[in-house]
Amino acid sequence: MKNLLNKKTLNKYSRQIVLKDVGIIGQKKIFNSKILVVGAGGLGSPVIDLLVRAGVGFLGVIEHDKVDYSNLHRQTLYNFNDVGKYKLEVIKKKIKLINNKIKLKTFKEKANDKNLDKILPKFDIIVDGTDNFPTKFLLNKYSLKYKKKLIIGAISKFDGHIFCFDFSKKGIACLNCFYQGMPSDEILNCESEGILGPIANVIGSMQANEALKFILGIKNNSKNKIIIMDLLNLTLRKVNFKKRNNCTCLKR
Ligand SMILES: [Zn+2]
Repeated sequence: MKNLLNKKTLNKYSRQIVLKDVGIIGQKKIFNSKILVVGAGGLGSPVIDLLVRAGVGFLGVIEHDKVDYSNLHRQTLYNFNDVGKYKLEVIKKKIKLINNKIKLKTFKEKANDKNLDKILPKFDIIVDGTDNFPTKFLLNKYSLKYKKKLIIGAISKFDGHIFCFDFSKKGIACLNCFYQGMPSDEILNCESEGILGPIANVIGSMQANEALKFILGIKNNSKNKIIIMDLLNLTLRKVNFKKRNNCTCLKR
């Protein structure tokens, strides 16, 4: 890859290239990666920011919303000047300032059955930054269908959850195996339940980290586990769960 022969580019990524799990070969993998981020809010902000900084080559973002004042305490991609603008328009400009080599594809729409069927096959890894279970379950459905890697995040108050699914492999439980049906969106409602900025950024950063681990092929022991972080009590737990016998994921 020509870019890597460039001294400036080598310097830009030098602190991660020096890691034995990355190296030049790993950096090439990052340059060649195709990641779709669904939602550019509290979780999506750190996911997008960190993946762009890491040198991801092709990034897709699905987001239909505009920036609101109430977003600013946790959504670090935006500032006061951006209020009222479409998030995607802001992101397009910000991303170019961080990495002008990135190929960016934006989708100013809500993720749904029609568009996910078209958009999702173009990418290798799907990162969920949404705030509702129906969309998380849709991402689960289509990532299963196209055997993609999926990283789901969920946040509320001081807590965050992460699921990492590699549906290209066999024996992987899915989101529905864990919840056994669609949970109520009440627990994810930032407006009524409240949220502090750091939990969104911690969980989003961990999702970006898991995405990079997927790209680099670093052994991941998160199979059939949920990662639960509680910033109030400062605990991090991994809880096992099993494939459910009558789950739809068994029929694929
Ligand atoms: Zn399942």
